[in-house]
Amino acid sequence: MSKFLDKRYSSLAAYVPGEQPQDKQYIKLNTNESPYPPSPETVAAVNKSEAELLRLYPDPDGRVLTKKIADLYGVGTENVILVNGSDDILNFAFMAFGANGRKTYFADITYGFYSVFANLHGSDYKTIPLEDDFTIDYKRFCNLDGAVFIANPNAPTGIALGLDEIEEILKTNPDNVVVVDEAYVDFGTESAVKLVSKYENLLVVQTFSKSRSMAGARLGFAIGNKELIGDLHKLRYSTNPYNINRLTLVAGAAAIDSQSYYTENCKRIEKTREFTTNELEKLGFRVLPSKANFVFAESDTVSGEELYLKLKEMGVLVRHFTSDRIKNFNRITIGTPEQMHILIDKIKEIMEAV
Ligand SMILES: *Cc1c(COP(=O)(O)O)cnc(C)c1O
Repeated sequence: MSKFLDKRYSSLAAYVPGEQPQDKQYIKLNTNESPYPPSPETVAAVNKSEAELLRLYPDPDGRVLTKKIADLYGVGTENVILVNGSDDILNFAFMAFGANGRKTYFADITYGFYSVFANLHGSDYKTIPLEDDFTIDYKRFCNLDGAVFIANPNAPTGIALGLDEIEEILKTNPDNVVVVDEAYVDFGTESAVKLVSKYENLLVVQTFSKSRSMAGARLGFAIGNKELIGDLHKLRYSTNPYNINRLTLVAGAAAIDSQSYYTENCKRIEKTREFTTNELEKLGFRVLPSKANFVFAESDTVSGEELYLKLKEMGVLVRHFTSDRIKNFNRITIGTPEQMHILIDKIKEIMEAV
C-alpha cells in the first residue's frame, strides 16, 4: 500500500474472483461460466465492420439494446439501465441507496461482493443469517430500515425464494429499496420483473454472464421504476457514461435476438444439474437444492478443502470458500455432460483413496 492511499480504503478487503490459473488446461467449474459458446448470431455480430467502428464512442444509452431488453421483459425503455456487468449496477445501488452510514441488509451467506461494496461505500450493513438448512427465511427480511440486497437464487447455495416471498419483502419495506439480484434466474426461477410496475422500491438486476454465455463481454442490466432507474443513470453519467463498449452492445442485441438458443442451453444445463446432483448424492454427498448453474455440495468422507485441492491436482477447478459455515462445501459449476462425467469419475477416485 502506498502512503498516498486515502485512509478510508486502507482496511478495505477487495473482492477475490475465482482463480484463473494458466499453468495447464483445467476443466473450469469454478466461476459459473456457461460451458456453451454464445449463439452463432451473437458471434457473427462482432464482425470486422463493427471493429472498424471502434474509433467512435458507443451510444451512452445503448438505445438499440435497451429497447430489445425492454420488449423482451415487457417494460418500458425508461425502466431499463444497461451496465458493465451486473457488478457495476450493484456498485451503483450501494452508492445510491446504502452509502455513508445508511443501513443495508443482506444474508450472511450470499454473493461475496455485497460486503465489499458495502464497505467501499461506508454502508452500515447488517447480515441476516440463513437458516440451518441454508434456506432464507423471508420473514427476517421484512420490515427493515435500510436497503435490502437479495440474490435469488442465492449464491453460493443455489436455493431460490418464491415470488410470493419476494413480494412480501417488497410490501413490508415500502421505504427501502429492495435489490433482487437475478444472476441465475434463467435456470429455473420465476423473475421478479413482473412486480416492477407494482412496487416502486424494486430493482431487479440481471446479467448476460451466466445464462447468455457472455461473461467476457461484461454486460448486465437492471429493471425498475423509472425514478430508481433515473437515479442510477445519474451515477453512471457521473462516473463513466460509456461504460459499455460498442462490441458488447452489438453482441448483446444479437443475443436477445437469439433468445431461444439461450433458453435451450439453460434447459440443457438444468438437466445436467439434475444428473450431477444424483451422482453426487449416490456418492454420499449432501447437495443443496439448486436452481442455478452450479451445485453446492459437501461430504462426510472428504473435507471441502481436500476435495478442492485434489480435484485441482487432477485438472478440475471448483470453488472452495473458507468462511466457517460453508468451509466443508464446494461450489461446482455445471459444465457439459462430458465434463460432469469426468468430475464424477475424479471424485470417485479421490473418495476411494481416503
Ligand atoms: C456472477 C454474479 C454477478 C455478477 O455478474 P457480472 O458478470 O458482473 O454480470 C452478480 N451477482 C451474482 C449473485 C453472481 O453470481
